[in-house]
Amino acid sequence: MLLILLGPPGAGKGTQAEEIANEYDIAYISTGDILRKAVKENTELGRKARQYMDKGQLVPDELVVEIIKARLMDPDCKNGALFDGFPRTVEQALFLENALPDLNLKIDRVLSLEVEEDDLIERLTGRRVCSDCGASYHLKFNPPEVRNVCDICGGDLYQRDDDRLETVQERMEVYKKQTEPLIEFYQKRGLLSTIDGNQEINEVQKQIKNILEKL
Ligand code: ADP
Ligand code: ADP
Ligand code: ZN
Repeated sequence: MLLILLGPPGAGKGTQAEEIANEYDIAYISTGDILRKAVKENTELGRKARQYMDKGQLVPDELVVEIIKARLMDPDCKNGALFDGFPRTVEQALFLENALPDLNLKIDRVLSLEVEEDDLIERLTGRRVCSDCGASYHLKFNPPEVRNVCDICGGDLYQRDDDRLETVQERMEVYKKQTEPLIEFYQKRGLLSTIDGNQEINEVQKQIKNILEKL
């Protein structure tokens, strides 16, 4: 099974992803997490990607496509994958479409999470992320049990550099220009399901599961 979580920054993709991937026993692939790890480890990929990420811009398609090609070869992808934050441009979506037949995979569903821009900004600026496992929290909407400590792994929570207000605004613009066209792209292919992301985390999860049960 292959699923795509689509939606603007802060829509709740990461928050929903892990549980869905576990439930269907498919790999969870977040290009953002992969890129942040590369930046932290200062690899060649990380050095190239960082300049774009810091500004809130997209990393060039060629780099992202290489990441995905390599990642899909990993053994945990044998049952498929859940993509979070990929594809983010029409070029990336076309690459994926062309690459899938050789891998004996097809896209089963694209889940589009919809949230208003004002709410997105509040979500992103209050977001805190685990430095070890990448889990996402929110100061107000989804606080950890112990302040600044990850419920799942005990890691320290931090604020992503690109979650500061100036960068958040740029990311919203980038989303509208480069990623939002994918909604129509997948709608035309009959693959899109829209979800109201402006509900409690558990409600959003339920709605996603309802859609997937009917596949
Ligand atoms: P994305 O991966 O789409 O960028 P996240 O899953 O990291 O988004 O969520 C962004 C922020 O919003 C996080 O701080 C998260 O805790 C919070 N959040 C996620 N889902 C909800 C929700 N349904 N209601 C309120 N806040 C949410
Ligand atoms: P969010 O969902 O909060 O916007 P992500 O963690 O998905 O953030 O992505 C963080 C940053 O990593 C993006 O702003 C962009 O610079 C880069 N990035 C992640 N995925 C992609 C992608 N598929 N294509 C290009 N850049 C990406
Ligand atoms: Zn953690």
